[in-house]
Amino acid sequence: MRAAVFHRSGLPLSIESIADPEPSPTDMILKVCACGICGTDLHWSEVNNAESGWRDINPGAVMGHEFAGEIVELGTEVGSDWKVGDRVCAMPQIGCGHCSDCLAGRPHRCYKVLNRASPGHPGAYAEYTRVGANETFKLPDNISFQEGALVEPLAVGLHAVKRACLKVGDNILIIGAGPVGLSIALWCKFFGARHIIVSDLVKARADEAARFGATAAIDASKENVPERFLRLSGSHPSVVFDAVGIAGSMQLAINYAPNYTRVVVVGLCMVSDSFQPTTAVIKEVDISFCFCYDRSDFAMTLDMLAQNRIDAIGLVSESVNLENFPRAFEELKKPSNQIKVMLEPF
Ligand SMILES: [Zn+2]
Ligand SMILES: [Zn+2]
Repeated sequence: MRAAVFHRSGLPLSIESIADPEPSPTDMILKVCACGICGTDLHWSEVNNAESGWRDINPGAVMGHEFAGEIVELGTEVGSDWKVGDRVCAMPQIGCGHCSDCLAGRPHRCYKVLNRASPGHPGAYAEYTRVGANETFKLPDNISFQEGALVEPLAVGLHAVKRACLKVGDNILIIGAGPVGLSIALWCKFFGARHIIVSDLVKARADEAARFGATAAIDASKENVPERFLRLSGSHPSVVFDAVGIAGSMQLAINYAPNYTRVVVVGLCMVSDSFQPTTAVIKEVDISFCFCYDRSDFAMTLDMLAQNRIDAIGLVSESVNLENFPRAFEELKKPSNQIKVMLEPF
């Protein structure tokens, strides 16, 4: 099959023929119909070193973990509830299926987890990819493959909002209007936040957030964010989300958070960062960190899409084929108005 292969940091991905994935007994092979480019992969391909705190990516690896497609092959022990031709999306990791974390719907915590882009488990920046039957979800008929590929980033936002212990009527500040920030805005609206204000250094991006539930936007390149928040809402935020994940963004979130409020760090910063504990201590802010989602977040996201209670398709700002994929991937490393770029290999 053809896939977008990573060789080393600083080099664009290259489209090459690699071995077709083979299913182990409890796995299935998926024809990839849509796969979103994730900021994590962009950072990862740039910052690939031991200090990143993130696992290494080896030359020859294929990334891509936000995908949907059609089942084309079943492992020998896959149950009768799955058949060739099923339209599905999947949690990207494959767990053992038996440990307490797998049983709790958290395969990414499984002690035997098979992560995407690790040896033997190419990701979905490719024509085909392997999924675990335990981690896979059928797409309801009214959900497109692109929406199916959005379930993963939407589940990240849902999980973050759960971590925030959001209460009805809370005022929310979201730093960063990328796909994660927008997904958080969407769920904050869903769960009854009052003011949902998104700040970004690119004004056009922040303005886009209104389409996903934000009540106002702040141009962080020009405006004083806390002052502007107060003027827009007549109040202070009760939760501040760091949806950026670069050095200094957590400190910004702490600086913007009023006394006794919550800071939720969602962006995955892959370089060393320092912050001023005094500010956080004096304010008594509660800081939470988020990683991934669990099975129930995936299931709920799918359900809400199927019931038309969330509308996320506007997150897709461009679709590209495999030939154009490496270019699109490189371009996302620079500031732009893109939100989610989708690979459609077929
Ligand atoms: Zn992702
Ligand atoms: Zn397990």
